[in-house]
Amino acid sequence: MRRKILAGNWKMNKTYSEGLQLVDEIVELFNAQPVDGVEKILAPSFIHLSAVIEKVKLIKNFSVASQNCHHQKNGAYTGEVSAEMVKSTGATYVIIGHSERRSFFSENSVVLSQKVNIALLNNLNPIFCIGESLEERNANTHLEAVRKQLKETVFNLSESDFSKLIIAYEPIWAIGTGVTATSHQAQGMHNFIRSEINKKYGKVISENIPIIYGGSCNAKNAKELFACLDVDGGLIGGASLIAEELFSIANSFPI
Ligand code: PEP
Repeated sequence: MRRKILAGNWKMNKTYSEGLQLVDEIVELFNAQPVDGVEKILAPSFIHLSAVIEKVKLIKNFSVASQNCHHQKNGAYTGEVSAEMVKSTGATYVIIGHSERRSFFSENSVVLSQKVNIALLNNLNPIFCIGESLEERNANTHLEAVRKQLKETVFNLSESDFSKLIIAYEPIWAIGTGVTATSHQAQGMHNFIRSEINKKYGKVISENIPIIYGGSCNAKNAKELFACLDVDGGLIGGASLIAEELFSIANSFPI
């Protein structure tokens, strides 16, 4: 059976103390009623990483991700954070390829491939995001767009490195818009991604790799999305900033 994964992306939200308060609320809820069988990943800002790790380390099935890392090993890159630095906090995942990084910070396939490689070198597991724009969806070129993103980046990895990834399908038109992909759209794309992985890496890897959905997923729509055969969980932005909402989404997986 594939892993079930729920990842919360806090983005550029929460001051230091607000972040600690949020993680305390999350810990309290999950301690009172553990949600077994679901891997929970919190992706706070860099400033929160070590404190959040300290707070979740005693709870089963919780881990921490950074939202980014630099593509170079180290050096004169003022303001940046390397994969090695992220790893040294105790984080085990890193989000790479988020559409906000691709569009606001011009991160292209070359840079994203470098980020994936340096993350893996530092034993950080990438949560690699892919997804089409609204124009591509409307022009019916969304499958081709996602195939291209895979081919130009993570499909250059060896089988063993590729197996360390979590793929996050995040249609750009659904991120932060309140418009969620229908379960039909999500299942269609997740199934397509899995079949592309099958063609490239074979049946065992394609059947085992977690593919999670992101884009305005919340406590109201998670159940229907997570019921889809090829949807293995969610990457949650806005709704992950409310502890009760995150807890409720964690309880939306089919039993
Ligand atoms: C995201 O940023 O990865 C995301 C899915 O955001 P939201 O849930 O707010 O749409």
